[in-house]
Amino acid sequence: MADFLLETYIVISSFVVSPLRVLSNCFPPPITNSVIRILPYGFLGSICCGLDAIFMLVQYQSSYLRALVDNTAHGLIAFVSWCVVSEIQTRKDLLEAMLCGLIACVIDVDHFLAAKSFRLQEARQLKNRPFLHSTTVVFIVVPILQVWLAQNVSYLRSLPYLFAVAVISHHLRDGHRRGLWFWPLGSTPPLPYWVYITCVMALPCFVKDIKRSIEKFNVVPISRQTTPLMDV
Ligand SMILES: [Zn+2]
Repeated sequence: MADFLLETYIVISSFVVSPLRVLSNCFPPPITNSVIRILPYGFLGSICCGLDAIFMLVQYQSSYLRALVDNTAHGLIAFVSWCVVSEIQTRKDLLEAMLCGLIACVIDVDHFLAAKSFRLQEARQLKNRPFLHSTTVVFIVVPILQVWLAQNVSYLRSLPYLFAVAVISHHLRDGHRRGLWFWPLGSTPPLPYWVYITCVMALPCFVKDIKRSIEKFNVVPISRQTTPLMDV
C-alpha cells in the first residue's frame, strides 16, 4: 500500500515538476521559488474546498453516505497536511501521513463512545460534543507524547506533531459548523469559511517551523545520558 502510494506520488510530482521547469525558464528564480513554496499550501486549500463541495452534494443523501464522505474528508485533509509538513522524502514520511489521516478519522469514534451505541442515528444526536472534539486534548496529549515517547523512541519522534496536525485539522473543519471547543472554558462561534481554510493551510507551515526549531535542540533522553552528575 505504502509502495503504491509512493509510486503514485512520484508520478503526480512528475506532472507538477514539468510545468514548474517551464515556469522557471520564464520567470526569475525568486518568483519561481516562491511559487514552489506556496504550491503545496494552495493544493491543501483546494483539497478542503473540493471535499466540502462533495459533502454539500451528498448533504441530502443517506446519513451513512454523509458520515462516510465527512470522515474521509477529515482523513484526506490530515493526510495531505502531513505530506506538506514532511515533504514526503522517505517511505516513513508516507506511512506517517497515513497514520495522521487515520488518527483524524478515528477521532469521530468518540461520538459512538459518548452515545454508548454503534448506531449512527444515536451517535449523531448527542446533546454535548464528545471529549475528543475538545481542542484542549491537544494541549494535554501532545506534551505527554513528546516527553514519554518522542524523546525516547527515535521512530516515534514525529508522533506529537503528527497527532497535533490530525486533531487540529479535524477540529478546524468541524469548527466551521460548530466552532472550536476549549474545555472547560467553552466554545468559539462557528468559524467563517475563509478562517477555516486559512487556518488549515497555515497549520502545516506552523507545525513544520515548530518541529524544525525543537529538533535543533536535539534533546538527549534522560535514559541515555551516561555522564555522571558528580565526579567523586
Ligand atoms: Zn468530528
